[in-house]
Amino acid sequence: MTARQRKNRSASASCEICGETCILHCHHISGRKIENPHHPDNLVDICPNCHVKVHAGMLEIHGWLRSTEGKSLEWRANPAVLASF
Ligand SMILES: [Zn+2]
Ligand SMILES: [Zn+2]
Repeated sequence: MTARQRKNRSASASCEICGETCILHCHHISGRKIENPHHPDNLVDICPNCHVKVHAGMLEIHGWLRSTEGKSLEWRANPAVLASF
């Protein structure tokens, strides 16, 4: 998978999982029923493709990792679910 680069988009307008630049969905990492569901730490912009996979359980989003370079999303593919597809 190669990351495509388009200069006319802001840096945030790419999927946090696969890097695809398209119309992004806003996913709530811990769902919408927590105390402050619209806190930035609970939101992630991902492409429709990855969004479907997250809700199907194929991808697990763990949350944001903070470092000196900012925050990056911690996620992993779920091998058990992938194997059953
Ligand atoms: Zn994606
Ligand atoms: Zn979602």
